[in-house]
Amino acid sequence: MDERYIDLDSLMQRAGMLIAQGKIADYYIVFFNIHNFKYINKVFAYHEGDIVLEMHIKKALSFLTPDERLVRLGGDNFVALVGAANIEEFIEKLSCVQLTYSNGIKEKKFNFGVTAGYACLEGVSQPRGCMAKASVAYQAARSEGAGKIVFLTPEINEKMMRQQSIVTAFPGAIKKGEFLVYYQPKVFVSDQTMYGAEALVRWLRHGEIVPPMNFIPILEADGSICDLDYYVLETVCKHLKGRKENGKDIICVSVNFSRRHMEEDDLVEHIIEIIDKYDIEHQYIEIELTESNDYQDFKKLSDIVSQLRLEGVGTSMDDFGTGFSSLNMIKNVDMNVIKIDKSFIPLGTDYPNRKRDVELFNNIVHLIKQLGKRIVVEGVETKEQLEILKNAGCDIVQGYVFDKPLTVEEFDNRLDEGYTNM
Ligand code: C2E
Ligand code: CA
Ligand code: CA
Repeated sequence: MDERYIDLDSLMQRAGMLIAQGKIADYYIVFFNIHNFKYINKVFAYHEGDIVLEMHIKKALSFLTPDERLVRLGGDNFVALVGAANIEEFIEKLSCVQLTYSNGIKEKKFNFGVTAGYACLEGVSQPRGCMAKASVAYQAARSEGAGKIVFLTPEINEKMMRQQSIVTAFPGAIKKGEFLVYYQPKVFVSDQTMYGAEALVRWLRHGEIVPPMNFIPILEADGSICDLDYYVLETVCKHLKGRKENGKDIICVSVNFSRRHMEEDDLVEHIIEIIDKYDIEHQYIEIELTESNDYQDFKKLSDIVSQLRLEGVGTSMDDFGTGFSSLNMIKNVDMNVIKIDKSFIPLGTDYPNRKRDVELFNNIVHLIKQLGKRIVVEGVETKEQLEILKNAGCDIVQGYVFDKPLTVEEFDNRLDEGYTNM
């Protein structure tokens, strides 16, 4: 076979040699995965998939000069060592590999892309430093999305390090109780009593409050979000139990559950176990789930919602209207509450599309009501918006017009005293 097609040990030896010769700065490392290769094994038999992979490898080798190298790490993951003079052309060719495979009966043309990260090896002083750069670059590409190609700049490198530091700090932070739960009331427009509240997490890190958007997507990508969601649920249950023991009223609190939970087999059991541990009646907990754009998820979501319903735990569809399949979701997944995303709320002031937006909004509300669901409108900020919502027949509102997310002490006061000055 081609002498440029080597194993990882040989690549490390070569990198060591280039470092010793002071030539490493003239090279780039590329980590790539063939985009959608899985699809091949669905269309063709397994051994045919191998043939297509071989064809791809030959193609990739043809993009290399004699002193460049290619390594298969396993599956459809590869690393290439590419010279500075060829890197741009190599990446461009690799980004669209056209292959035609025929087995005598079927012929198929493929256009393969890649998910790839690549980095200049300047400054690398150990062979393993090459693989470290390759894997950070690849992670950066993956976090951009499948099929993306990313060049590792110092800025991206720093961002990846920051993300890594969040993932690494997470288990300790959860043990030390650095995650705080804030509560944002959901309020009946008619009499300003509370229908419920949403639990929203914050991270008290190095004495500063970090908003969820700065860490949730990272924990979501890593998968640790699931532990955090259970932690928030447990914190909420503990709080409700404390109130009950002090003879105080409690209300239904909703907890956000990431779609990463769809991968768990015991999600519903786990939720119920936590609620029961604190003796909270099931109707006081609601689980917020975001709509799903993926069919596989969709079926799973529907099962989970039904199981929770049987247990008496309510569910709400978060950010309704922001996905691709919103209407399909309300038709097929039987959630109790639909939370209309703030992007749908018509603005209160005069602007060209106002009339049309109000009409659209009214019709969405009408439709959801016809289906017998409860509506909560989120992110309501002004009295003018409130007026539009009232006219459309929405009765429950969550937003700055009533409250920002409150600390647990503020929330308790709100529950005990209601709205005294509105
Ligand atoms: P979300 O579930 O859509 O939560 C609503 C967000 O809107 C919250 O942002 C809330 O503070 C904000 N908000 C409420 N009223 C208004 C308003 O009147 N105007 C505007 N502009 N914004 C308003 P927050 O607390 O920053 O949370 C952001 C997102 O982080 C949440 O969006 C949710 O997706 C996620 N999140 C928060 N806590 C958790 C959690 O415990 N688990 C999971 N998985 N996700 C969480
Ligand atoms: Ca939510
Ligand atoms: Ca939302």
